[in-house]
Amino acid sequence: MSVLPDLHWHTRRCGHAAGGMEEYVAAARAAGIRCGGFADHIPMYWLPRERRDPGVAMAEEELPRYVSRVKQLQRENPDLQLGLGIEADYIPGWEGRLGELLSGLPFDYVIGSVHYLDGWGFDNPALLAEYDRRDIDRLYREYFEQLCRAAASGLFDVLAHPDLIKKFGFRASMDLNPLYADAARELAESGVCVEVNTAGLAAPVREIYPALEFLVHCRRRGVPATVGSDAHRPEQVGRHMGEALQLLRRAGYREVVIFKQRKPVFLPLED
Ligand code: ZN
Ligand code: FE
Ligand code: FE
Repeated sequence: MSVLPDLHWHTRRCGHAAGGMEEYVAAARAAGIRCGGFADHIPMYWLPRERRDPGVAMAEEELPRYVSRVKQLQRENPDLQLGLGIEADYIPGWEGRLGELLSGLPFDYVIGSVHYLDGWGFDNPALLAEYDRRDIDRLYREYFEQLCRAAASGLFDVLAHPDLIKKFGFRASMDLNPLYADAARELAESGVCVEVNTAGLAAPVREIYPALEFLVHCRRRGVPATVGSDAHRPEQVGRHMGEALQLLRRAGYREVVIFKQRKPVFLPLED
């Protein structure tokens, strides 16, 4: 495989990304990407409908249309491996509702994300002031605890940007290796993959998610890795894949994974 897969694209359907689906497919072709996939944000299923923000995620009525559009693009582009994915928030206590929403829909993969801690959207730049009220070490512990619960929920094939808590550059003062080790063990035991997500390079932290040390723990535990640009515009498809490949290699990975109907397909990394 000459170019890494990119399984994490958002489109204008989720209200804060730009570009139509066919533009993403064209961008993937232009970048030489043979395996890609859509992962628009799932409807905000844990909120009553009137409190759902149309600038965060697609409306619930849109979900079947989203699915059928991706299926159609798959048929129209048989030479590409186009995945029908979705990025789904993990909200403790709402596992049943999420399971219902996902059931019966023909996803190739479900990417789980932790974007909220007790209702605080900690990756939202508009809510940045909350960091000043928090103990950062404690926050990291809470984040990784929730990540482990997400893995154990059985709802997800992959966990996205698995150290997103570093996004704005607030750093824990403690050694994070114990948290990484616990998370990697939970991923391995739950059969969930880890995502190498290059969007962190454009965030204030200026680092890929996850940190190399975390990825090393994952590799030692035999956790498969996926790759995503988290593109929110077509021109971001495939961004920084050279750095992603370098990180994967440094962590000791020899292959990456894509999904077909929620089954992993392994692709060797070329030497
Ligand atoms: Zn988004
Ligand atoms: Fe995300
Ligand atoms: Fe995303």
